[in-house]
Amino acid sequence: MFIYILKTQFCRINKTKTMTKITVAKGDGIGPEIMDATISILLAAGAEIELDEIEVGEKVYLAGNTAGISQDAWATIRKNKVFLKAPITTPQGGGYKSLNVSTRKFLGLYANVRPCMSLHPFVNTKHPIMDLVIVRENEEDLYAGIEHQQTDEVVQCLKLISRPGCEKIIRYAFEYAKQQNRKKVTCFTKDNIMKQTDGLFHQVFDEIAKEYPAIENEHWIVDIGAAKLADTPDAFDVLVMPNLYGDILSDVAAQITGSVGLAGSSNIGEECAMFEAIHGSAPLIAGKNIANPSGLLQGAILMLNHIGQTEVAEKIQNAWLKTIEDGIHTSDIFNHKTSKQKVGTKEFAQSVISNLGLEPLILSPVAYTNNSPLILPKYKRKPAAMKELVGVDFFVHWNGSDANELADKIDKLYNKGSLKLNIITNRGIKVWPNGFKETFCTDHWRCRFIKREGIELNHGNIISLLQEANIENIECIKTENLYNFNGKAGYSLGQGQ
Ligand code: NAD
Repeated sequence: MFIYILKTQFCRINKTKTMTKITVAKGDGIGPEIMDATISILLAAGAEIELDEIEVGEKVYLAGNTAGISQDAWATIRKNKVFLKAPITTPQGGGYKSLNVSTRKFLGLYANVRPCMSLHPFVNTKHPIMDLVIVRENEEDLYAGIEHQQTDEVVQCLKLISRPGCEKIIRYAFEYAKQQNRKKVTCFTKDNIMKQTDGLFHQVFDEIAKEYPAIENEHWIVDIGAAKLADTPDAFDVLVMPNLYGDILSDVAAQITGSVGLAGSSNIGEECAMFEAIHGSAPLIAGKNIANPSGLLQGAILMLNHIGQTEVAEKIQNAWLKTIEDGIHTSDIFNHKTSKQKVGTKEFAQSVISNLGLEPLILSPVAYTNNSPLILPKYKRKPAAMKELVGVDFFVHWNGSDANELADKIDKLYNKGSLKLNIITNRGIKVWPNGFKETFCTDHWRCRFIKREGIELNHGNIISLLQEANIENIECIKTENLYNFNGKAGYSLGQGQ
């Protein structure tokens, strides 16, 4: 691993200016090409930045570091606080953790902001009127990466959604809309199915929306919302959503503007920020000088605004719009009707540089007036609710097929004094009592016990249940306590219950 301040390759650093030191990682695949192109534009435009390059990604992974980054590189990122990162290849297969996800989470970069805009009529798109921003929650959801194989047939991934996580991202979306003079914030969730996790996201959205009466708000179930987004993107303005939906739908949104290679994103935390393209390392086109550097350039423009270099950001964005308008296009957006010249990565960057100081004539030039980093109030923990243990979900690895047989075995357990078997489900659907013979069952069974009337349940009762199951050779693979919070069930019903 090497870390050095770039003095030779990008040596146009004027020491009399106040330089902002930024950490730079060139990444993998097309990363080095698009980073070189981006940096050449930034420096030609007079960005007052000093580059501190670190090596992360594939080489580091393959050298045996499963995190893809060294401690020294972390120290550089944390010291400089602003990170411009090219895409990284995460090697396939077990053991390697995504550095993108780790960076977002270690540094608390909770808000991933992804603007997607059509460049009609210069870039071919089915959606000429499209100008939306996806604000994606960046730290939680299935990206906790907590996965287990529990039986021969079943693996699980935990979906974690927290109130602070929801409050921070949803408030960020409304504050962003307010700052950028946008009119509407739309929330996508699947809370008709995931009533606890997505239900919390939707509930917090409704709570926070009330604090912004001047901004319209709406909620869509994510499946029909995604269909509407792909079909009629002009119906949306700012969208806020949990991590996975935001990841998928921001790629869709960028692609329907003309190319996934056009969109950049910022990853914003309370202390640090990271800027990148939304796309990956595109290994198949790496080293060919054909990748579009626009996504990373857009990330870099967001970065310049973040560090207060608004004029340079504006100058680059206008030169970029002019280049697109001139029909100077990389192959991903090249189209015989709308393009004039097909260029490579380097030549595209050169065209942007030669347009610095110019503005587009048909596309709207930008004038950034208020793009300073948003400072949100710190999350305040709410008073603790009254929490009552009311039962336990007892997950069993069992190779039988008749749920009545399992219910008989389970019913013999010692703890029936304090707990009673309430329902058995298989992959969430009720199979006992009164299951359907048509229901397909795996070897993964959830036996839900609830406390008997008048009994005060404690954790000792659950331990006894586990001990008894062990004696009876019933293999419990995990338990999940059932609580009421302020008298309201903090768990979902079984499907069919
Ligand atoms: P990808 O985004 O790299 O490529 C998808 C498609 O888009 C490919 O056809 C590619 O050629 C094209 N494309 C992407 N960027 C382009 C550009 N700038 N110009 C022209 N065409 C472009 O997605 P993938 O193939 O699924 O992933 C490749 C690797 O990237 C994987 O290892 C993945 O883990 C990684 N990845 C990294 C990041 C990141 O670093 N933030 C994000 C996504 C994927």
